[in-house]
Amino acid sequence: MHTDQLTMAAPPLYNRSNPLLNDLLYEATGAEYHQAVEKARAAVMGFLRDTKQPFTGIKPAAIQELVYSVDLSRPLAGYDALLEEVNELYIRHATAFHLPEYIAHLNCPVVIPALAAEVIISAVNSSQDTYDQSAGGTFIERRLIDWTANEIGYTNADGVFTGGGSQSNLMGLLLARDHFAIKMLGHHIKEDGLPAQASRFRIFVSDKAHFSNQKNAWLLGMGEQAIVKVKTDSRFRMDTAALKAAVDEQLSQGNIPIAIVATAGTTDFGNIDPLQPIADIAATYQLWMHVDAAYGCGLLLSNKYRHLLKGIEQADSVTIDYHKSFFQPISSSAFLVRDKSTLQLVRHHADYLNPEDQDYDELPAQINKSITQSTRRFDALKLWCTLRLTGKHKLGVYTDMMIDTAAATAALLQQDPEFDLLSSSDLGVLVFRFRPAGIKTDLSALNLRIKQALFFEGVCIVASTKVENNFYLKFTILNPVTTVSHIREILATIKSKGYSLL
Ligand SMILES: *Cc1c(COP(=O)(O)O)cnc(C)c1O
Repeated sequence: MHTDQLTMAAPPLYNRSNPLLNDLLYEATGAEYHQAVEKARAAVMGFLRDTKQPFTGIKPAAIQELVYSVDLSRPLAGYDALLEEVNELYIRHATAFHLPEYIAHLNCPVVIPALAAEVIISAVNSSQDTYDQSAGGTFIERRLIDWTANEIGYTNADGVFTGGGSQSNLMGLLLARDHFAIKMLGHHIKEDGLPAQASRFRIFVSDKAHFSNQKNAWLLGMGEQAIVKVKTDSRFRMDTAALKAAVDEQLSQGNIPIAIVATAGTTDFGNIDPLQPIADIAATYQLWMHVDAAYGCGLLLSNKYRHLLKGIEQADSVTIDYHKSFFQPISSSAFLVRDKSTLQLVRHHADYLNPEDQDYDELPAQINKSITQSTRRFDALKLWCTLRLTGKHKLGVYTDMMIDTAAATAALLQQDPEFDLLSSSDLGVLVFRFRPAGIKTDLSALNLRIKQALFFEGVCIVASTKVENNFYLKFTILNPVTTVSHIREILATIKSKGYSLL
């Protein structure tokens, strides 16, 4: 029994039973649960109160030492000791995405209604695979898929929540592949495996598309060789003339184009491939069009910038990452199809879960739509609580603020002769480097050292990428709390760091 539990003033909600069972959540342990959540909440409050910069700068070896010195065979005495340990090992050194000086990767700050939902999700612990494990959860998820579909402009759609954008992209390529094989070759890959032609299947992506496409082609048995990278224009968006030429070239080589993946919001530049022209090319060549809107989906919320996604409604399938651009805690993501019948390709019947003879209008089963998860978290409740309390309008304003800050940042970088900005952004990613005037030096090496030095000082965290083998710094602005004055300070820090390293 935990010692601090003896001093709790609140009486247990129900009759006490077997003390051995007091770490399990059930009707007799309401007081223990209450205490645990209160103390965990206090630890989060401490994180907000005490965290003054996005990273402490602790080195991996030091954290490893801390974590590995814990004796897992000796449980602690109570929640105070537990949370003190968690704080030392984790919270104190956690990367603080909520601070305006964190502008590295695609990590958004999270909205509070979603955190209230998290408390419920893990305690009630529904599983979304079948109605008998989720009840209302099934319909909340379906309603949110319908809501998202409507925002995209779909009218006969379906979809499912997934663990992330990589997984949603996998579903897109899976459907593209299997749909093509059935329609064009009369071949059912689900039953019969890959057809002989599969080694000649080709999927077109831009050279700035997310790496998950390559991994997914590998997982789907087509190999990375199936991915054809199309060159991008001056703003790093897919060049549609080059796309058309690439499709023609593959055809002339005897290969078999099956799909185009357009990116709505690239990870490195935040730019949106020309969706409408790509949809036209997909239609001409009868190719599946998948839109990876893992990042750009936030534009669905914005009145001001929604027009940038025009054409997305023509896609056969779409990846949405609520945990990238809807201010949701990880994980929260979805995969949607324009024509609901196509999603039935992934249905598999297990006698114990979703038997063939079941009437799914009567007892729905979301597992019929999921490929890589059976037991699945009720992440949808987070988005539900967010829409019901924060609401779409406010989320859209957050999105606009972040885009406007990024545009102002781009202007600052452009005006400053000591910075070299590669491209403006439709969203919030800026790729640039420090280029001191009149000094000849290896700019890639210098900028790499700036990035590393900043990381281990922890005052501000920026990301990096390579473009044509040159090293660049990268800002991902995804926090409405970040203002232009924060950015000015970060740029001044980068400069002074740069000069000190020369
Ligand atoms: C982040 C990202 C993904 C992968 O999403 P995860 O949720 O991290 O799996 C896919 N595509 C793009 C464009 C992304 O930025």
